[in-house]
Amino acid sequence: MSEEKKPVIRRLNTSKDMGKFMADYYYELDDAAKSGKQKIAWCTSVGPAEILRGMGFLTYFPETHSAMLGTSRMATDLIPKANAIGYSPDICSYLTADIGAFLEGVTPLAKVFKGIESPPKPDVLVFNTNQCRDVQDWFNWYGEKFNVPVVGVHSYVGVGDVTDSHVASISKQMQNIVEPLEKVAGRKLDMDEFKQAVALSRECSDLWEKCLAAASAKPSPLSFFDGTTLMGPAVVGRGTQKAIDAYKLLLEELEERVSANLGTLEEERFRIYWDGMPVWGRLGMHSKMFASLNTNVIASTYCSSWIFSALDPDDPFNSMARAYTELFIVRGDDYKEQYIKDKLDFFDVDGIIYHDAKTCPNNSNCRYGMPQRLQEETGIPSLTINGDLNDLRLLSDEQTKTNVEAFIEQLEES
Ligand code: SF4
Repeated sequence: MSEEKKPVIRRLNTSKDMGKFMADYYYELDDAAKSGKQKIAWCTSVGPAEILRGMGFLTYFPETHSAMLGTSRMATDLIPKANAIGYSPDICSYLTADIGAFLEGVTPLAKVFKGIESPPKPDVLVFNTNQCRDVQDWFNWYGEKFNVPVVGVHSYVGVGDVTDSHVASISKQMQNIVEPLEKVAGRKLDMDEFKQAVALSRECSDLWEKCLAAASAKPSPLSFFDGTTLMGPAVVGRGTQKAIDAYKLLLEELEERVSANLGTLEEERFRIYWDGMPVWGRLGMHSKMFASLNTNVIASTYCSSWIFSALDPDDPFNSMARAYTELFIVRGDDYKEQYIKDKLDFFDVDGIIYHDAKTCPNNSNCRYGMPQRLQEETGIPSLTINGDLNDLRLLSDEQTKTNVEAFIEQLEES
């Protein structure tokens, strides 16, 4: 086993621009909430944001707030508050941490952004169950608390090929939410604004995809751990020019690094694919742990979840329906296995880490034999680590470290 050494991790300069992007985003929401000058819609992370932009809503994404509860390590103490009012410790720890934070009247936004005291109050909540059912329960709870409408799209699960009938059904549901949203917005959906938002979203998605693809270079200029924060604009800013501008800068820096043969790590001995959610409260620790083993976690299913290649401004409803149904999380295992195989090939990886996140079965793809099947087909070894996205009581740092070191040792020997 190689000696653990102090790792050198080369940070991207554009991370600072992403930080500024997020600050501007939250201050704009805070200002709108305080002044009432613009309506605010809360939206799920892969919800129909483009429709909301076509009606002039500012959009707030509770999942991003929950991820901040995770990174700030506030989540673990807040989850029991939601458990106490009936939300099981076994369900989504984004939901339980976020509701816990609301019950306690705390937010990491107040720590990071001076002057912001709370998340912006919603005028409406909009979900799509394409990722899971938890989001519906989560949003309904807030709908009652704030006494505002909740509208949603009920998606398919375990989809094989995305057919025209899937698209027609989801597209119809998306069209049906327009009327209740117009009532809240106090104005009509402007088709030009809507199409423009779809066009901007598509451009953002294409740029983000190119940024992630830069990790195929050897050495990789990007790591999964960087990606989890760099993806902010793709989640909260899709449909805006600002997100596009942010990714143009990021892509430029990544391409410069590739040309200069400059990787995230000084030495990239092994390249790993990560499947599943990040452990938000351990991003720094995990990043350093892998780096100390000269191992770069270069790509993931998770960060690619905000690629919506089907979006087409000339057919906004249908293309949104297709884009938001083609997502990995919505699909059946055959599709998922082929998807991961393609990624292993494209990024030329040496091993896979599956994160079995206790409270998110929807993003844990290791529970029904997929690791074993993929290893048999590709010969690429894998390791499953047990943990959680937000609840730090559900993981053992020692166990993770021991298992990861043994896995890298196995790669060294093969
Ligand atoms: S996909 Fe997982 S982490 Fe995301 S909201 Fe659903 S249960 Fe929570």
